[in-house]
Amino acid sequence: MEKSDKSDFKYIGNKLLSWYEKNARDLPFRQTKDPYKIWICEIVFQQTRINQGLNHYNNFIERFPDVKTLSEADENDVLLYWKGLGYYSRAINVHKAAQQIINDYHGIFPNKYEEILKLKGVGKYTAAAVSSICFNERIPAVDGNFYRVLSRIFADGFDISNSKAFNYFSELAHLILPENVGDFNQAMMDLGSEICKPKNPLCGECPLNQDCIAFLTNTISQFPIKTKKAKSVGLELKYYFVHRNGEFLIQQRKDDFIWKKLYEFPPKISEELIPFIKSVKTVNHKLTHKNLSIEIYNVEVDSEDAWKHFIAENNFIISDYESSHQKSFPKPLENYLGNYHMAYRIL
Ligand code: SF4
Repeated sequence: MEKSDKSDFKYIGNKLLSWYEKNARDLPFRQTKDPYKIWICEIVFQQTRINQGLNHYNNFIERFPDVKTLSEADENDVLLYWKGLGYYSRAINVHKAAQQIINDYHGIFPNKYEEILKLKGVGKYTAAAVSSICFNERIPAVDGNFYRVLSRIFADGFDISNSKAFNYFSELAHLILPENVGDFNQAMMDLGSEICKPKNPLCGECPLNQDCIAFLTNTISQFPIKTKKAKSVGLELKYYFVHRNGEFLIQQRKDDFIWKKLYEFPPKISEELIPFIKSVKTVNHKLTHKNLSIEIYNVEVDSEDAWKHFIAENNFIISDYESSHQKSFPKPLENYLGNYHMAYRIL
């Protein structure tokens, strides 16, 4: 179907709103229009499922209830409260953006899409969600849910991996956009994650099944169209878990590439420590578009001289298991520490 055929589809948006009024998920951030809380919720749930991230969101908001508190916090404290959510650059960005709001907007959350978009780490989707939910701007918060639902409703073959997909589906969304855009955006989020799922959508329960061309023509499996798959790159990392009498060595990452500012074990050791390598474990870990293969060497240093010498020559932090909880580690290293603690109970 050509876009010109889709002349008046507002009733679809309104139907979705009626469904949302009865079926909206009862989530803490749905009780507020505070742009700070909506913004944090949009960032937290970008890469995290609602039920996995809800406790983290609540703890984060309890510790940093407003822009001012967040802007004044120590970055390591922000990272600590992000623990478990992954993608830690989001935590660094929300911290910086809070300072931006204090410095550039006198501490008042900007109330226009274009201004919200200027905040560190805020993309078009988040700016649209915050400005529509909190300030009633008429902007659809287009994300993968929109691509999938709109492709199916209109049996539209526009390739969602095309660089113009965002603009294309934004235009399409405007055709069904009702008055209450804030609720509509949230309704699309619920429909996309609960009903119109990528695989096995629950079309029988869908409020739009009588309007959905893919459903009516039994062609759901053909939509959305995606021709290019993002390629994953393989990466190999090495770490040395250097420990002695329950203490081990760590450092904060400076590398921007992955795991920015998280803590890690030494990535190399001196020749003097090589005889103390007791074992090696290989861990595979996936990040977005990256497949990591990580070798972690267990280096149990029996010699006090070698231990002191290595520490004197490097700037590593001496940690123990208890105090490591106050720092954020990449998931594979956190798991390694947990397993080691369970196995030996000596850390
Ligand atoms: S009818 Fe099925 S495919 Fe169509 S929008 Fe609803 S859930 Fe998605």
